Amino acid sequence: MSDLRDDRPADDPTSTPHAAWRRSTLVVAAGRPPHEPDQPLNTPLTPAATFVAGGEREYGRYGNPTWTAFEDALGALEGGRCLTFASGMAAIGCVLDLVGHGERVVAPRHAYQGSLGMLADLEARERVSVELVDVTDTAAVVAACEDAAIVWLESPTNPALELVDLPVVIAAAHEAGARVVVDNTFATPLVQRPLELGADLVVHSVTKYLSGHSDVLMGAVVTADEEVADVLRLRRDLYGAIPGTLESWLALRGLRTLAVRHERAQANAIELAARLADLDGVVEVRHPGFGAVVAAVLADADLADRWTRSTQLWVHATSLGGVESTFERRRRWRTESPTIPEGLVRLSVGIEDVEDLWDDLVTALTAARG
Ligand code: PLP
Repeated sequence: MSDLRDDRPADDPTSTPHAAWRRSTLVVAAGRPPHEPDQPLNTPLTPAATFVAGGEREYGRYGNPTWTAFEDALGALEGGRCLTFASGMAAIGCVLDLVGHGERVVAPRHAYQGSLGMLADLEARERVSVELVDVTDTAAVVAACEDAAIVWLESPTNPALELVDLPVVIAAAHEAGARVVVDNTFATPLVQRPLELGADLVVHSVTKYLSGHSDVLMGAVVTADEEVADVLRLRRDLYGAIPGTLESWLALRGLRTLAVRHERAQANAIELAARLADLDGVVEVRHPGFGAVVAAVLADADLADRWTRSTQLWVHATSLGGVESTFERRRRWRTESPTIPEGLVRLSVGIEDVEDLWDDLVTALTAARG
């Protein structure tokens, strides 16, 4: 009697040729169980505080198969070894811990306020010295690299949406003996792969586009430097800033649709940025030409606040990168940089119908202007 399993075609794939795949394929296909009979298509959720002794994991703080699946997928996308963390800030803290006592860090004057807050805290405790730079002034950034231990970059910056000349700055930093870290949260590896450009480490708030549904807090670091990866891994084991199993599973499920979400949200953002530029009450619009974050500068804080409280569809909320459109005036946060305009509203454009998004913005701004 024939065994049904023998009817599989001879070329049934059992290995995964990651290196040849394009990024929109990797988001779907990387980090899956092997193509073998009875394997699940998706890595299951494994809630486990401990494992049977004698293997590689042993204990839940040292590893979990659900994180490993996400790490394999993001590692394949960014081109390095990935370690996941409890949040983007946990990942950033672990990377900044690589800086020795009294060493210098160069960072953008406009960057995620949490990263700048952590640097300010480290500086206040005399752990590091920090030089904040205008990343649009490439010559100034290159000059600042001298004697730096780490050059910390975001491109585009949050929330100013400035771009860094990454190849030039990375080369200058390496010439000066500094490590380069790029926070790739806004661009995502679909648009930009900093390790390919020579950066030493990439960090992500997985909370944003990678997971994509505003229901997970998670972070990640990716590096092609095995020695640095081992150090970060050891620190993660010691600090315990690990992601939850459910979060890893949700993030991996979200990652599967990154390419289609990104394509739709970016198309919406490009359209809205063009229309906002001609809208009465909007003084300036910033959009780097890719991605789904747009900044619209209104004449003053009051008008911006009234706008963000007058919509029906857009949600007045912080964070970004979800399928739903959210917006907020950034200077409502005490900790936001004082050189960000008071009336700057950061819009995280989602995947809804662009006409509904536009109608809601226009109706709300008309109401806000009175
Ligand atoms: N990096 C960027 C660019 C961010 O926007 C954020 C959060 O907004 C973070 C890092 C921190 O990530 P998390 O909130 O997941 O800790």
